[in-house]
Amino acid sequence: MTHTQSPLLGNLQESAGARALAQRAMRLMDEIFPICRSITGAGVRATLDLLSRHIPLLRFEVPSGTPVFDWTVPHEWNIRDAYVTDASGKRVIDFREHNLHVLNYSTPVRAKMSLAELRPHLYSLPEHPNWIPYRTSYWREHWGFCLTHRQYEALADGDFEVVIDADLAPGALTYAECRIAGATDEEFLLFTHVCHPALANDNASGIAVATTIAAELLAARPQLSYRIVFAPATIGSITWLSRNANAARRLRGGLVIGLLGDPGPLTYKRSRRGNTELDFIASGVLRTLGPEHRVVDFSPYGYDERQFCSPGFNLPVGRLTRTPNGEYSEYHTSADNLALIDVDAIAQSVRAVAGILALIDSNPRFRRRAAECEPQLGKRGLFRSTGGRSPQEFEFALLWLLNQADGTHGLNDVAAASGLPAATVQAAAEELVQAGLIEEVRGPGFV
Ligand code: ZN
Repeated sequence: MTHTQSPLLGNLQESAGARALAQRAMRLMDEIFPICRSITGAGVRATLDLLSRHIPLLRFEVPSGTPVFDWTVPHEWNIRDAYVTDASGKRVIDFREHNLHVLNYSTPVRAKMSLAELRPHLYSLPEHPNWIPYRTSYWREHWGFCLTHRQYEALADGDFEVVIDADLAPGALTYAECRIAGATDEEFLLFTHVCHPALANDNASGIAVATTIAAELLAARPQLSYRIVFAPATIGSITWLSRNANAARRLRGGLVIGLLGDPGPLTYKRSRRGNTELDFIASGVLRTLGPEHRVVDFSPYGYDERQFCSPGFNLPVGRLTRTPNGEYSEYHTSADNLALIDVDAIAQSVRAVAGILALIDSNPRFRRRAAECEPQLGKRGLFRSTGGRSPQEFEFALLWLLNQADGTHGLNDVAAASGLPAATVQAAAEELVQAGLIEEVRGPGFV
């Protein structure tokens, strides 16, 4: 339980190192942004191809039709072109201009129709007339186009030719993992979704930060082993959990990361359990990064934390974003583009992720030898052996440790939860170990 080694990812916890990494992440976002991703298909594979220039990826292809808990891996969607032309042959809606123009997962179509027939297939945002909405049709067969409300209003009656040149057919769902071996085989998971097309904050930012942090972890000497998972939202995490249920149940913790580049404040969403080692550490790290941050309780709405925190898993998995999904006006529109991304916001997000990983990575945990009620400290002289330290702080540290020492909590999260200095908590832990009241817990695979 010594803290002699330099903290994991220490360079990224400083502003210069975090900013350099953020700039690398921004360049990666430029590359991946234009790709038309979906929950399956060539867009995800092309994205993973780009990521694998930076980090080694294990790629998995799960065939369409595979049952995954209550779900089934869907058909694979691949799109080549999509457009609507007016009577003069001019493309009035053109997938090649912006991949948000097609309803993601549209069934193929090739037809001529009137404006009245076309209208039920058009999606626009009257409240933001220059933005293209992002819409999907994953779980019902449908086709459509998304367009700016200005485009929508400019459509004159007449005959339109409608083409969606796509395949929706048996194939596979693709996801990838970057595995980083640490000194122990206890694992920490970073999960980010890779299914959104040309949208920057949601979630090119998460993909780029996960990739650049993975590259740093590969060059570090972590205690824990790390798995960074790149998968489509919802069906991807469900598929991953169905194939890794045992590994998942052994996770030390995990973070779903995404939406890391908008100028809004960092937001940590607690695990369903709400009081895990990770929850305390993440809240503490956000506090150190400035007053403008939010820590919110778990709710069953959002991203893939919904699956990791379902009752059958109930894992110590939280979520780190800046402004959460649905809470900024550009969310799921063409205005969520690279201009929305602030390099300083990415850098602060990097510091948050690095800070959380560092504190989990070297967090000696403790277990009470006899856990019922408080032990009698006075008869052991512990309340008097405080020489030189603030007695109150030291006594608080004893009580915090004795209360949290259930095998899942340790020095760093007790320091974060109590607000006490880490050195005081460590000194208290040493005395409690010496007194035989607590013992350090090692993960199952500690070597
Ligand atoms: Zn989204």
